[in-house]
Amino acid sequence: MKHKITLIKGDGIGPEVVEAACRCIEATGVEIIWEEFTAGQQAIEKFGTPLPNELIESIKKNKVALKGPITTPIAGGFRSVNVALRQELELFACVRPAKSIEGIITTPYQNIDIVIIRENSEDLYAGVEFEKDNKSTHELISFINSISKKKIRQDSSISIKPISEFASRRIAEFAFEYALKHKRRLVTAVHKANIMKYTDGLFLNCVRKVAERYVGKIDFNEAIVDNLSMQLVLRPQNFDVLVLPNLYGDIISDLCAGLIGGLGVAPGANLGKDCALFEPVHGAAPKYAGQDKVNPTATLLSAVMMLEHIGEEEAARRLDSAIKEVIKEGKFVTYDLKKDRNDPTAVGTKQMAKAIIERLR
Ligand code: NAD
Repeated sequence: MKHKITLIKGDGIGPEVVEAACRCIEATGVEIIWEEFTAGQQAIEKFGTPLPNELIESIKKNKVALKGPITTPIAGGFRSVNVALRQELELFACVRPAKSIEGIITTPYQNIDIVIIRENSEDLYAGVEFEKDNKSTHELISFINSISKKKIRQDSSISIKPISEFASRRIAEFAFEYALKHKRRLVTAVHKANIMKYTDGLFLNCVRKVAERYVGKIDFNEAIVDNLSMQLVLRPQNFDVLVLPNLYGDIISDLCAGLIGGLGVAPGANLGKDCALFEPVHGAAPKYAGQDKVNPTATLLSAVMMLEHIGEEEAARRLDSAIKEVIKEGKFVTYDLKKDRNDPTAVGTKQMAKAIIERLR
């Protein structure tokens, strides 16, 4: 059976890692018709918008997409295409497994097996922001100051943090169902509800309520996000499935990537009721763009998740094994998996992918 899948190579190191993934998927024998689109700055230059409607329609039609990272301008410019895609397609759950891989020597940790479930649709990432000195910002500040005992300075910018009961319950249910389906033992709700009593408090209460339905099946506990960060560094093996609001989920994803050897090996999936978009945790790493240098593993493992999702379990298993064998052997791996990052025996993106393809054959 041929699968039709939307492809977004992204920018920076995106095209290199996505092309490596396409070659590896092809070597599994799974037949895919790719529908390719650009997004971000490239799309602005071509179509006058960072997120062309055709791209959204293609994913809605195909239901599945593979995506490389897309650069978001810092402190200004267009809003994140990555966040917008998740919102437009209602990809409310971001699943990011952080699992130790045998042979990775750049981390002191072993036996890490954590799955991050990040709420993808709201929180400070909702994009509801008010810029300093705008008329509407002044009006908003005056209104807040009129109804709140706490005062906001007039020369402030404001970001709104919406956390709804609907989205919190939805991600909590997703996390517990994921835990059941994947035979996990524990779900930890991560929050800062001691300070943000109404937003994080609502999130936590929703997860607590859902947890009650799983008593005897899945254990449940809670962690304040700053304390969790410390515990993840000291005793990461204590954690299993983490469910977090959007911002903490983003930050803790990179922390967990660090535990298993870095962003080069951390995969991810954005899932909704109808569509699924697979992409690595890492970004466009502009300083390495076009150098055939970075690790394709994070995108390859995202492709493994995608193959599982489309029912190609056997191909997924074979690709996963081929990646793990190449890493374990340690001969054809990129600079980030070497003890010394300047190790001259490190290979490039293409050669690592080639070694994986040879294993597949
Ligand atoms: P980044 O993840 O792009 O890179 C940070 C560092 O991690 C790199 O300099 C490199 O040392 C390492 N790294 C990342 N990917 C690697 C790989 N495959 N192999 C080896 N090492 C790797 O983070 P950043 O520099 O903060 O962000 C760059 C841009 O990417 C920003 O515009 C940001 O908004 C964007 N971004 C996009 C996504 C996405 O598309 N989903 C995610 C995160 C960041």
